[in-house]
Amino acid sequence: MEDFATLAIQELLHPEGFDCACGRHHGTGLRHFILGNGALEQLPRVLQTMSIRRPFVVSDSHTDPVAGEKVRMLLLAAAIPFASYRYPPRPHAIEPDEAAVGALCMAFDPACDALLAVGSGVINDCCKVAAHALGRPSLVVATAPSMDGYASDNASMIQNRVKVSLYNACPVAIIADTSILRQAPEAMLMAGLGDMLAKYVSLCEWRISHLVTEEYYCPQVAALVRGALSRVREYAPGLMRREGAAIDSVMEGLVMSGVAMSFAGISRPASGLEHYFSHLWEMKALRGLAQPSLHGIQVGVGTCLTLKLYEHIRQLTPSRAKAEAAIRAFSPAAWERDLHTLFGEDAAQKLIAQEAVEKKNDPQKHALRLQRLLEHWEDIRQIIREELPPLAEIVTLMQGLGLPLKPEDIGLTPRDAAEALLGSRSIRDKYLTSSMLWDLGELEDFTAYV
Ligand SMILES: [Zn+2]
Ligand SMILES: [Zn+2]
Repeated sequence: MEDFATLAIQELLHPEGFDCACGRHHGTGLRHFILGNGALEQLPRVLQTMSIRRPFVVSDSHTDPVAGEKVRMLLLAAAIPFASYRYPPRPHAIEPDEAAVGALCMAFDPACDALLAVGSGVINDCCKVAAHALGRPSLVVATAPSMDGYASDNASMIQNRVKVSLYNACPVAIIADTSILRQAPEAMLMAGLGDMLAKYVSLCEWRISHLVTEEYYCPQVAALVRGALSRVREYAPGLMRREGAAIDSVMEGLVMSGVAMSFAGISRPASGLEHYFSHLWEMKALRGLAQPSLHGIQVGVGTCLTLKLYEHIRQLTPSRAKAEAAIRAFSPAAWERDLHTLFGEDAAQKLIAQEAVEKKNDPQKHALRLQRLLEHWEDIRQIIREELPPLAEIVTLMQGLGLPLKPEDIGLTPRDAAEALLGSRSIRDKYLTSSMLWDLGELEDFTAYV
């Protein structure tokens, strides 16, 4: 068995995948990741290697001038026939919803054998969904190192005005030309860094959950993300000066995060409580109750909030008496009422139905988790020391680069943060920092720290 952490990213994309000591076989559908200055020139070669004869090129009014035109020129020069669709300019950003996917499918030329997305988050997600529906592979020419969904096998969509994750397939190739990426808007560079800094929390929570709930964990997959994150940290000071090494390290880290999620078959290596802050704020924004920001910007703020919680968790001595008093006082009816307030009628009903299956609130399950938390508290403190940088270090880095740090910096209130913390453990069966605090009877008290 290979030690992944020593392999270059292209070697990790081996079609046969890898048998791992964790007992699983790891693989990804991504076949090519071309990164660097002039990477775009390799597009015709990549298409030929993949036997793609006629791509359907998808761009919008922002990505077309920075990369779309060049893509079409390269295809023409290489005598590769293609069809194309450009989303028309509109006053607001394209939303990844039925209309956006429908527009693609209506314009699709059935003679095309692949979709080639020219863009970042939304265009990539819409192309993944359309490609799946049309039974074609998708490829991406990245225009911004802004989020870690490039290599993931799910698309973050809006369906019936509700945010959903649709599982389909990851792109077969990602082409990331540094000279294009470095022209990305400032906010998108910040968002990419925010989405990477999140991984400190993701890895820490993954290990804690493994200890407390015996959830599957692979040290090799975690090491991949940890390695990518340390390269991002090393070059981050040059990011807003648009230094090539900084841009490349973020892009590589984001793609590596997607590969790690495919390897693990779960989002754990790249998403934890910091992402739940963002999810809950997005859900609020969809209900018209909060102001939306870029995913990675929200996740960056969520990372600061979570690291702040850990500054206090480091000092915490868990009390069995407090935890048991909290579970005795727990009222399912009050919990359901809170869900209605936090998420609205429809979402609350779904979460209540989900809890009937998952039983996160079941006192017996709680007792088991509490037992393990108390037994392993020293190990948990050790994991925190190993995985998490001090809050001040991350704040200094983010502040130096102009990233938003607090909910107030992105038009949200401390109350939005407190509600997101309280609601986070209820939206999926994932053991988060908030789940741990709930188990310890500390969750309500800890809302004071966000
Ligand atoms: Zn493994
Ligand atoms: Zn993310």
